[in-house]
Amino acid sequence: MKRVQNLSDPGVIKSILSKHGFTFSKKLGQNFLINPSVCPKIAEMGGAKQGRGVIEIGPGIGVLTSELCMRADKVVAIELDKRLIPILSETLSEYKNLKVINADVMETDLKKLISEEFDGMETVICANLPYYITSPVVMKLLGDRLPVKSVTTMVQREAADRLCAPLGTRNAGAATVAVDFYSRSEKLFNVSRGSFMPSPQVDSSVIRLSVREDVPEVRDEKRFFRTVKGMFTQRRKTVLNALSGGCGIEKSAAEEILVSAGIALNLRPEQLKMEDFLRIDKAMDERG
Ligand code: SAM
Repeated sequence: MKRVQNLSDPGVIKSILSKHGFTFSKKLGQNFLINPSVCPKIAEMGGAKQGRGVIEIGPGIGVLTSELCMRADKVVAIELDKRLIPILSETLSEYKNLKVINADVMETDLKKLISEEFDGMETVICANLPYYITSPVVMKLLGDRLPVKSVTTMVQREAADRLCAPLGTRNAGAATVAVDFYSRSEKLFNVSRGSFMPSPQVDSSVIRLSVREDVPEVRDEKRFFRTVKGMFTQRRKTVLNALSGGCGIEKSAAEEILVSAGIALNLRPEQLKMEDFLRIDKAMDERG
């Protein structure tokens, strides 16, 4: 399929936006991509291809959407800002394989959407996410156990370094454990702040989260993540103090749990690997 309009050209963007009297909303994280090499790479590396469906979150004026439509069988784009809907129907009018939904992704039942729109089709998610909701969106996409192969998205560089850090290293946090629980994460490439209009204060990176088929089994996922989060609130303390202080567990009980999980009491939470958190969780189960 042929590219219709150069939606990464700042002149083209300005003329479309002024025609519609559109002004950027900082609150909605509207930084549109103007570096022409970025969207084709997100689409390719995000796995948009024949036979597949793609969900895009936050299409803006459609610069990434158009790359997705050219490659995949069907694209469903969810955009919260209703001012962008008429703009998208103009900029992407050529693509018959696109459906734009005016909704908040956080309020959207994505499981239902996938079964209604992509029945039986392999599906991936691609986005240049608004930074103000990166973490909740990523957690929702993974935690809802959607039947998707992967989530490929632009995030702030710092968030990419945190989400893709190997567990057991300084950059790892509770969000890293959550991402690692549900997916294999990779930082794909960096994108400078000058690649956006308006230019944000920070640089970005594109990450890919490939959903695991072997998600670990825990008795209560909510409790597991509460414990991990609690421990990371005291990340510089020993695991013993972190488990008791961060999770409100008596010190003697925390010690019993860690000993029975085979974890050295003087380690720091940031030094723990996934198996360690899983063993702590299991030891908590065994105590009842
Ligand atoms: N994809 C476009 C690009 O790369 O140029 C725009 C990306 S811009 C960083 C984020 C987009 O997400 C904006 O269009 C914004 O209106 C939209 N957005 C913000 N919050 C949203 C939400 N809760 N649900 C869906 N879209 C949202």
